[in-house]
Amino acid sequence: MSNAEEQKNIANYKFHHIDLDKCKICKDFSCENACFRGIYEVIDKESMPKCTVIEDREDRCVKCHICTTLCKLRAILID
Ligand code: SF4
Ligand code: SF4
Repeated sequence: MSNAEEQKNIANYKFHHIDLDKCKICKDFSCENACFRGIYEVIDKESMPKCTVIEDREDRCVKCHICTTLCKLRAILID
């Protein structure tokens, strides 16, 4: 693995991968509203925002990719 890859701050779930370095500078938290299956919660919005996949909800995902499209920072990757 290259140094650049090691330094990345990615939250890995089963098939969602979220670049938390991007969430840190996010202002609109569009992922939360984008997902009609209620999968995301952004925590610490006032300090260091962090998108999380709510426990046990990941399997609700239908891979519609609305969230990956609406996250302007392109922080979300879905396998
Ligand atoms: S996933 Fe995208 S929209 Fe959601 S908090 Fe992170 S950067 Fe913002
Ligand atoms: S792909 Fe669709 S269902 Fe899955 S997390 Fe994104 S918006 Fe929600």
